[in-house]
Amino acid sequence: MNREEMISRVLERTEPWDILIVGGGATGIGIAVDAASRGYDILLVEQNDFGKGTSSRSTKLIHGGVRYLQQGNITLVMEALKERGILLENAPHLVHDLAFIVPNYDWWEAPFYGIGLKVYDLLAGRYGFGPSRILSTDDTLKRIPTLKTEGLRGGVIYYDGQFDDARLLINLARTAAGQGATLLNYARLAAFTRDGAGYLDGAVFEDIETGKEHSVKARGIINATGPFADQVRRMDDAEVSPLISPSQGIHLVFDKSFLPGNSAIMVPHTKDGRVMFAIPYLGATLVGTTDTPIAEVPLEPRALPEEIDFILETAGLYLQKAPSRDDILSVFTGIRPLVGASDDKNTASLSRDHTIIISNSGLLTIAGGKWTTYRQMAEDCVNHAATLSGLDSRPCVTKRLNIHGYHKSPQKFGSLALYGSDAPAIQDLLRSDPTRQKLIHPALPTLCGEVVWAVRFEVARTIDDFLARRTRSLFLNAQAAIQAAPRVAALMAAELGYNEQWERDQVATFGRIGQGYLPD
Ligand SMILES: Cc1cc2nc3c(=O)[nH]c(=O)nc-3n(C[C@H](O)[C@H](O)[C@H](O)COP(=O)(O)OP(=O)(O)OC[C@H]3O[C@@H](n4cnc5c(N)ncnc54)[C@H](O)[C@@H]3O)c2cc1C
Repeated sequence: MNREEMISRVLERTEPWDILIVGGGATGIGIAVDAASRGYDILLVEQNDFGKGTSSRSTKLIHGGVRYLQQGNITLVMEALKERGILLENAPHLVHDLAFIVPNYDWWEAPFYGIGLKVYDLLAGRYGFGPSRILSTDDTLKRIPTLKTEGLRGGVIYYDGQFDDARLLINLARTAAGQGATLLNYARLAAFTRDGAGYLDGAVFEDIETGKEHSVKARGIINATGPFADQVRRMDDAEVSPLISPSQGIHLVFDKSFLPGNSAIMVPHTKDGRVMFAIPYLGATLVGTTDTPIAEVPLEPRALPEEIDFILETAGLYLQKAPSRDDILSVFTGIRPLVGASDDKNTASLSRDHTIIISNSGLLTIAGGKWTTYRQMAEDCVNHAATLSGLDSRPCVTKRLNIHGYHKSPQKFGSLALYGSDAPAIQDLLRSDPTRQKLIHPALPTLCGEVVWAVRFEVARTIDDFLARRTRSLFLNAQAAIQAAPRVAALMAAELGYNEQWERDQVATFGRIGQGYLPD
């Protein structure tokens, strides 16, 4: 992927695009993969970086959702479990199974969760990741040695999927590009254009890097802007009533000592009736999440002090050593694009299913859903968009479409495993210049050469792109990421041909972003 080349394609095009997609999160990029692999001409515009919104801020689980099982949403659980299996087949370098332990402190928990999780296994059918079973106290502690032992009666183990959301997203973007899609980050939809009858026939977007506006024509337009969907719908119809009930969820990141093994903890019922996870993630411990209704939808949402307190308190109920504010390495916040505007303040009860609506002027909006079901959402959406836009009908092929970097045994690439089949090329890049083998910061597992790779092949345009999404430095250790910024800026400037002023501006901007990942 090369941004300059993508911009040239847009400028040179005289024909309307088959579909214009607005939004470069899991939903939009998933649609781009689906539509481009059916052979449609696709343009996608993302106002910031790919994945800047919710799609880099999830709990990083590819799961059926035990919570939805509790709510009795069997269809959603079955669909998600099937998608989990499909994704593992198409992206074994990016998704892996993870053992989850439900610790039991009450006599009824083992039979209750044991049976519930057997149902979960059954619903997965041939896509199962491994059978659940009841564990003795000793076996539970072997898996999670840091669990509180007082009153512990054992646990239930089950399996689900784990992934790195931003890495899957960039690899999906590269998959779409490989299928011929044109994708632009830092391209913000500014306005729609209409034909004589008032139907949408194109859009104007602003290239954020140059400030220039470009006008494009499209047969169909898809609004895939997740929590921002209503802002875009209002560009089409200023009077439209809201669709999204935004709610934010936060995660805290601690070092590995809080969860030293390879298993995760699942707490099925917190004080306020939610599910909470503690998960081993890229050498750290990720704990979350919360569910807090919010009024505004910013690009950089901030954790509320009470959300941080709630997670610390809940973690302290289960871990021998209760984590404190001083132990927090990073805190990140995402906004759920929940569909179902209502006066009900408890957004946890709203549907996680996706919704497609079509406006009178032909704008197709898709919202809701979850990362796990992005492929099914995309298939559904492109089916509707093709009919709406009068495109010739073509079958979806993504059930068996390998995702960029596909590799059956990526573990052999060690720390570069997540790059899958790209790893040998990165190894060459590292070998060609020994300075590229140095770490960007002693506390971060990232090499200088990865900066070069991300700029050349993964359209990283800012330090934030690299430290927050091409690698997860900001999410793993915010202070270290802020300290690494000048080094990353220098490497990026050399690749992109920018001067020292750009480096200084970038470091300052990233410093401000990074502050939002440190607890107050
Ligand atoms: C705390 C939390 C935890 C979660 N955990 C999980 C999980 O473990 N597993 C799971 O399956 N799901 C999970 N989810 C759900 C999942 O993350 C979301 O459903 C999914 O990421 C939404 O993707 P999206 O593309 O719809 O939205 P987004 O990722 O927000 O993408 C929308 C994009 O549109 C862009 N945009 C907005 N306006 C414009 C404009 N004018 N022009 C151009 N672009 C624009 C934004 O910049 C943004 O990048 C979680 C969600 C949250 C909040």
